[in-house]
Amino acid sequence: MKKVSVLGATGSIGRQTIKVLKGLSGYKIISLSAHSNYKLLIDYVREFKPKTVCVTNEKAYEKAKSKIKDAKVLPPWQLFRLAEDKNTDIIIAGSSGSSALPVILAALKNGKTVAVANKEPIVMAGDILKKAAEKHGGKIIPVDSEHSAIFHCLATSKTKPEKIYITSSGGAILKRGARKITPAFILKHPIWKMGKKITVDSSTGVNKGFEVIEAHHLFGIDFSKIGVILHPEAIVHGIVEYADGSSVAYLSRPDMKIPIKYALTYPQKLPLKNFLDYKNLNLTFKKFPEEKYACFCLAVKCGKKGGVLPSSFCGANETTVKFFLKGKIPFSKIPKIIEKTVSKTPSVKYTIENCLKIEKWAMDFAGRIS
Ligand code: NDP
Ligand code: MG
Repeated sequence: MKKVSVLGATGSIGRQTIKVLKGLSGYKIISLSAHSNYKLLIDYVREFKPKTVCVTNEKAYEKAKSKIKDAKVLPPWQLFRLAEDKNTDIIIAGSSGSSALPVILAALKNGKTVAVANKEPIVMAGDILKKAAEKHGGKIIPVDSEHSAIFHCLATSKTKPEKIYITSSGGAILKRGARKITPAFILKHPIWKMGKKITVDSSTGVNKGFEVIEAHHLFGIDFSKIGVILHPEAIVHGIVEYADGSSVAYLSRPDMKIPIKYALTYPQKLPLKNFLDYKNLNLTFKKFPEEKYACFCLAVKCGKKGGVLPSSFCGANETTVKFFLKGKIPFSKIPKIIEKTVSKTPSVKYTIENCLKIEKWAMDFAGRIS
């Protein structure tokens, strides 16, 4: 029996993980975390009978504690204990933002397997997480669709690739000019159905920038060898190109349950019955229009410079997305605020503590200049 912990069980990735787990025999949900949606967590406790749950929002924690009797309810500051549970075999990191960063680190230091959907921890502290995994025998399995694709492609040869490509469907803004972009318009993302923040990130280009940084850390590949290709149909998710001119590509329907299931059952591929209809596939590929995505270029620049700069970018981005969704700033102001914040980032040593401190500093700074 494989024992699974799901972080962010109430979100888009979390709910899809639960759906996948419901159809898998030989897996048991041992612990779960939620932030504010304690009601759904109560339903989960009834259905799956986990041993432990953690609620990271204080008000929701008080509510959950008074209502959940059949599982241990941990307070927000004890989230890391899910990572230290000796009984856990695999942790799915599906919460948003950087909150799971210390938990992922603790899990890797305990030699555990972490299936990571959550981008911000990798973007902010990829080097530190990779080193911890190598030193303590922990394993990171990518869940983000492009990285799951590259993970598959790389497994087909021992030869180092010349280049890897991740694809982008373009986000919502390709359908409209850069003016009058409202939260309601952005949230009608054309292909992937995701949480609000990542949907905005997909439109600004932040998401693709994060994915380039993730690819750099997860696969140890230089930025100069990572390309992005515009592919509106979102069927090819990643391509690995070799020196002999051959390429290996990974295709699937745009359905996050596929990479989630693979991360859970790796290296096996168990049925999901979500086949492609090859007779009717019409795939197109174009140059990714970087000039339309100022935030993409800025994110990659921060990734290349490294240190705590990606953390500063993440903090400024969190604040601008929040403000944009509340209607406090227009879409066009997002890159300007992030750029200004990043340019004022204090220079400090690259440690987990400083990554989190700088992220918080950038959240506040971006809020003040918005
Ligand atoms: P959602 O917004 O749908 O869900 C976020 C989850 O995290 C919820 O369970 C939420 O709890 C919890 N959460 C929110 N705030 C906090 C906090 N401060 N501390 C701890 N937990 C918190 O996001 P997604 O599922 O879309 O995305 C999750 C992560 O996965 C992101 O990093 C995203 O970039 C990445 N990702 C998502 C993909 C997708 O298809 N959705 C694809 C690839 C990557 P609650 O609901 O109880 O408040
Ligand atoms: Mg992705």
